[in-house]
Amino acid sequence: MNGLSQTQQLWIEQLLNQRYWTLLEEVRDALEQSGQQQYSEIIGNAPADPGDAAMADALADLNVAMIDRQIHELRDIEAARQRMLDNSYGICIDCGNRIAFDRLTAYPAAVRCIHCQQLYEKTHAGEHTPSL
Ligand SMILES: [Zn+2]
Repeated sequence: MNGLSQTQQLWIEQLLNQRYWTLLEEVRDALEQSGQQQYSEIIGNAPADPGDAAMADALADLNVAMIDRQIHELRDIEAARQRMLDNSYGICIDCGNRIAFDRLTAYPAAVRCIHCQQLYEKTHAGEHTPSL
């Protein structure tokens, strides 16, 4: 159990949904600005319940570099929704402890508790910078 009350869980679901639609708006704007509005129809045709849609996959197929960040975050949100469905949401994937509610409201797609996240960032820091 993640220790979240029903109310807390609903609150986080709302945060996830809001963030999800904000990201889709950003993607639509980016596509339209780049003259690829035919693709923005994919978003227009999205089902009303975003939980059922693999939107990130559909967008990734477009292969538009400037929406990479949004696609990445959409995937995180879809994964968070999936974890809610199978009751693993709010549990740290590294240590198995509960993730603090404060942290979840700040980062609803968080998969690690603050301690493991700091450890993770320390061990993975600079892995993309070339070492001379
Ligand atoms: Zn942890």
